[in-house]
Amino acid sequence: MKQGLAKERRLQRLQRRRSLRAFGLKEGQVECNVSLYSAELGLSGKLDMLVRRGIVRFPVEVKFTQGPARLNHRLQLAGYALLLESIFGINVPYGYIVRLPDDSADKIAIDEPLRELTWRTIEAVRATIRKEQMPPPAPHISSCVDCEYVRFCGDVV
Ligand code: SF4
Repeated sequence: MKQGLAKERRLQRLQRRRSLRAFGLKEGQVECNVSLYSAELGLSGKLDMLVRRGIVRFPVEVKFTQGPARLNHRLQLAGYALLLESIFGINVPYGYIVRLPDDSADKIAIDEPLRELTWRTIEAVRATIRKEQMPPPAPHISSCVDCEYVRFCGDVV
């Protein structure tokens, strides 16, 4: 909850400051907590920040993390890029992951390998839901530290 509140405060600050320089833009608009849905893709989600300039749109996710963007973060970002492409009929070739607490931004290419892996992951999640299977526990306990299911999951901790 504390991290959620801190993230919300950061989002509000980022929106107020219109800190577009971090995203290679001088002008543009920022919307926070944007709900996205595509019936065509059968996907929905809530994007931390949507940056717009003219017809250009790209997703920004804000994460409490250190080091380079993790694969799970890149997959989530790519999912939002697919949603934006489906909703607005545009190409979304990149997005950003903003790392807290230092506010640094990583530009992530939404390239073919990442798109393919994103679709494979979406299909795997759908199969898990269809078969009512429980996914295996995380291989490293470090993944459990900031997991939102840690209070309910008895797999590791
Ligand atoms: S707490 Fe459970 S659900 Fe969360 S990462 Fe660990 S094993 Fe996975």
